[in-house]
Amino acid sequence: MKELVEAVRAHGIGIGTDIVKVDMFLNHRMDTELYVKIGQAFAAEFAQKKPDLVLTVEASGIAGALTTAIACGNIPVVFAKKSRTRNVTGDVYESRVFSFTHGVENHIRVAKQYLPEGSKVLIVDDFLANGEAAEGLCELCRQAGAEVIGIGVCVEKSFQPGHQKLVDAGYHVHALAKVLGIEDGKLIVED
Ligand code: 5GP
Repeated sequence: MKELVEAVRAHGIGIGTDIVKVDMFLNHRMDTELYVKIGQAFAAEFAQKKPDLVLTVEASGIAGALTTAIACGNIPVVFAKKSRTRNVTGDVYESRVFSFTHGVENHIRVAKQYLPEGSKVLIVDDFLANGEAAEGLCELCRQAGAEVIGIGVCVEKSFQPGHQKLVDAGYHVHALAKVLGIEDGKLIVED
């Protein structure tokens, strides 16, 4: 998506060899016009598969999930909640996700009533790195008997293995901007 690629080029910062900081428009300050276009781009890619809901994980996935759900015709957004405690009540689906940016393991949970069996689910997140978050969300869908119709990510770090892992597992993955590498703090972004 041209506008997102341009924003990553103009404002994205590389930290070390593997962290991409896009606080200017995606993760801290949110460019609302850009987020609306992100939703439209995901809808253009996935809406023909008729998702029943958009699934993401709090907190940074929610904005893109919301604009996507609106662009898909005002379908619901369900966001998995993070918790470090093992608080299984029987009313939730739960999986474990290792957080790339925080270096901790989170338990992500969704109340069973919000992820109905047989529903078609579009997963949306802000970043794809090692694929942990997306795999954790897919696992919640597997537990629910819901179908993952696609995975949309705003920014993919193509030098990390998440994309390939998800494609190898049979998922339709679509990234709107791809960072190919980081050199001296500068991002190498695919055209
Ligand atoms: P993964 O689970 O694919 O390893 O990492 C994706 C998740 O970690 C996303 O939900 C995102 O919030 C966070 N993340 C991973 N890498 C980055 C990064 O370079 N920058 C930012 N801002 N978030 C990241």
